[in-house]
Amino acid sequence: MRKLLPIIEHAIKKPIWDCRMCGQCVLHSTGMTCPMTCPKTLRNGPCGGVRENGNCEVNPEMQCIWAKAYERKESLPLPKSWRDHFNDLRPPVDMRLEGTSSWVNLVTRRDQEVPAGWLDRDS
Ligand code: SF4
Repeated sequence: MRKLLPIIEHAIKKPIWDCRMCGQCVLHSTGMTCPMTCPKTLRNGPCGGVRENGNCEVNPEMQCIWAKAYERKESLPLPKSWRDHFNDLRPPVDMRLEGTSSWVNLVTRRDQEVPAGWLDRDS
């Protein structure tokens, strides 16, 4: 089942959110917008390089993912707690989890492990 879950998760989340299978899903805190689709894969944004028209400095054809995340956080019928999490400082992505199921990592709390020295918001 552990090998099957990443395949199922990707099949569901790729068409909806263009999921890149980072293994630490934060969609609930980013207005249901995948931050891994940012060309800089920033977990916190925007980067400061947003163009005047709201598009990305790396890919001028696309809207800044973080501008989109903010708009969606405001407009989608999301729980208040999810909206409030938008301003959280998210830790760097742990590339060792790439390709694994974020559902499994949520249940096992592996997705809560942060790099040594990183202070989470509860400490
Ligand atoms: S945050 Fe990670 S797991 Fe969630 S949709 Fe984006 S790539 Fe997929």
